[in-house]
Formats: sequence, C-alpha cells, structure tokens
Amino acid sequence: MDDEVRCRYCERLLKKTSGGVVLHPDTGDRLPMNFYGGPVCSKRCDIAACIALESSMPGAGIARRPGSFAQEQIDRNWPDDD
Ligand SMILES: [Zn+2]
Repeated sequence: MDDEVRCRYCERLLKKTSGGVVLHPDTGDRLPMNFYGGPVCSKRCDIAACIALESSMPGAGIARRPGSFAQEQIDRNWPDDD
C-alpha cells in the first residue's frame, strides 16, 4: 500500500490519519519525525536511526551517539522520556 507508514528504524507498521499525522498503533500517541526524515515509534528508535544514518556517512566512522543537532530534535521529540 502506498500510504503504509513504518518506523524508520524498526520498521514497525504505524497508523497514518487522513490528515497525515502518524500514530502509534497500540497507544494512539502522535509520533514525531526523525531528524533525518521518517516517523519513529520510540525514543530508542529515534536515537538508533540517527546513529545508523550518521555511521553510514562517508568517512564518519562508527557513531556512538547522535550529532548535536539530531540530539536536540530527539530531546524535543520525547520531552517526557529521559
Ligand atoms: Zn521503531
């Protein structure tokens, strides 16, 4: 399906409303977008997706944590988590 939406990192199937809002399939919570694009279902996936992408950049080496701009967005995306 064209409008199938999956978590950028774990590829879990997510819900999308007609208004384009992405929701968690179990909790119905509105899900944020990853810094590099695409919805993510949890803070863990948000962080992991950033690290995976940054590690894949030419010459970057293995990233252990997201870059500072990506981390700022992660903090905004999940204000209730730590
Ligand atoms: Zn996920």
